Amino acid sequence: MLVLGLETSCDETGVALYDSERGLLADALFSQIDLHRAYGGVVPELASRDHVKRMLPLIRQVLDEAGCVPTEIDAIAYTAGPGLVGALLVGASCAQALAFAWGIPALGVHHMEGHLLAPMLEENPPQFPFVALLVSGGHTQLVQVDGIGQYTLLGESLDDAAGEAFDKTAKMMGLNYPGGPEIARLAEKGVAGRFTFPRPMCDRPGLMFSFSGLKTSALNTWQHSVSAGDDSEQARCDISLAFQQAVVETLAIKCKRALKQAGMKRLVIAGGVSANKALRVSLEKMLGDMRGDVFYARPEFCTDNGAMIAYAGCQRLQAGQHESLAISVQARWPMEQLPPL
Ligand code: AMP
Ligand code: ZN
Repeated sequence: MLVLGLETSCDETGVALYDSERGLLADALFSQIDLHRAYGGVVPELASRDHVKRMLPLIRQVLDEAGCVPTEIDAIAYTAGPGLVGALLVGASCAQALAFAWGIPALGVHHMEGHLLAPMLEENPPQFPFVALLVSGGHTQLVQVDGIGQYTLLGESLDDAAGEAFDKTAKMMGLNYPGGPEIARLAEKGVAGRFTFPRPMCDRPGLMFSFSGLKTSALNTWQHSVSAGDDSEQARCDISLAFQQAVVETLAIKCKRALKQAGMKRLVIAGGVSANKALRVSLEKMLGDMRGDVFYARPEFCTDNGAMIAYAGCQRLQAGQHESLAISVQARWPMEQLPPL
């Protein structure tokens, strides 16, 4: 089955062609980062308008790259939520219009299920069941995954998502959007031990997260440094390192607890923050000590992309799931509501 995947939930237009027999044939991405940078975050209306501009040229590009023609496509998968409603509507209407014109089915895919399944596109994919840590700009969740659509939420953030905490901490130090990669870059030049930030909610049992206090600790430290006359690059690097270490250690502690609770030794990390090298190294070490395995996607498939939507959609379409021509998207959409395959 050949599936065209469209992703437009936030600030990236992603398009891909995935074939159930041949694997990923082509994928293309247009990132709107430069468009939103001046505002320090995503401006929803600008995002929707830009998706409109990019979508059809990207579809043509992907078809050319794969050497395919529209008549070969069996179905279209698009992100139906969660995300920015205006941005989601661009992908949904484009998918439904093309599906109608080409006489094929379209299926709305859950964006976080896309992230969760992205490591399946790699050479050594994880087997079910596993525990997944979903860490993106909008979500921080620990999920027990027994199969596609068999999700049990084990824990999540009470406030900021991990990626959001990276972005806000970077912004207050005057760094560019998105902040995660910027903090990771500066952390490499940071002096360890100059600052230490709390590991939130690790001193009590449970699998919930909270990152807003950590962000405030970083803000206070930065403001203190500035008022003491040190607003140098090195101060930013040292705060970045301490912040990243606190996030990584907190995530690792909760992953260990979740694996223990679920009685599993397989961990999948997905979403933009799973591209973070320090997080990967720390979890590799932890799972190595436990004689377990950690799985993640290549860096470009950790952040938003069309390939993960084409893949997730293909699994559901092959199982016979389909939907009507109605255009319907959801800004909020708990993943546990998805039907099992
Ligand atoms: P997503 O919401 O899954 O598209 O991921 C975007 C989020 O991932 C943003 O909050 C980014 O700051 C964050 N992110 C991307 N790369 C990294 C990285 N290397 N380290 C930490 N956070 C990152
Ligand atoms: Zn995402």
